[in-house]
Amino acid sequence: CGIVGFIGQQDAKEILLKGLEKLEYRGYDSAGIAVQAEQGVVVFKEKGRIAILRESVDASVHATVGIGHTRWATHGVPSKVNAHPHQSTSKRFTLVHNGVIENYELLKNDYLQGVTFVSETDTEIIVQLIEKHVNEGMDVEEAFRQTLTLLHGSYAIALLDNQNQDIIYVAKNKSPLLVGVGDDFNVVASDAMAMLQVTNQYIELMDKEMVLVTRDSITIKNLAGETIERAPYTAELDA
Ligand code: GLU
Repeated sequence: CGIVGFIGQQDAKEILLKGLEKLEYRGYDSAGIAVQAEQGVVVFKEKGRIAILRESVDASVHATVGIGHTRWATHGVPSKVNAHPHQSTSKRFTLVHNGVIENYELLKNDYLQGVTFVSETDTEIIVQLIEKHVNEGMDVEEAFRQTLTLLHGSYAIALLDNQNQDIIYVAKNKSPLLVGVGDDFNVVASDAMAMLQVTNQYIELMDKEMVLVTRDSITIKNLAGETIERAPYTAELDA
């Protein structure tokens, strides 16, 4: 299973699909991408091989920002509905997740009574919690942070906001995730191998960190909201 993300100038769809193909060796049962198109965030997902996903992606959709996921099901059968990305009820927020949220049933009962869930995944509670916090008046960064503080378990997360096309929100705890640095773009990947096609400069993330990734900035914060400086390293791998 794995995660990729791209925010830059070029066609994001192709970079994301290539990235997911590089992560195939990790094993998966379904895959999906979400991109920031002119009409808003568009999701493509399928059960089975990346090749099937690739065929389902509408080539006419133009986007320079997006996230992608290969799923290794832990909660809910392998299916198109349970494949990531998952969206909040209003479809404002779109999220991919690797890992396991151990307290998802508790969170669902405590905070999300009345919310209609589309999938059987533990993941869907994350995106619904973010939306709930925003509906209660928090800005997106704060809603993301507050949601992360409620999660017990492992996660690598990438999040898109329909109302802000110029950012990918990222977080990590006990699941691998890196941010890759480019000249006029930045990337996200579980494994540098996925994005060596576009950059060999990566910033390691520590557990319980979140990152705001734009085309020209990478801001790492801890869950107390403090900014953390960390230099990139050069990935010495064969693409
Ligand atoms: N627990 C999530 C699910 O079952 C994510 C699995 C993964 O790491 O791919 O959908």
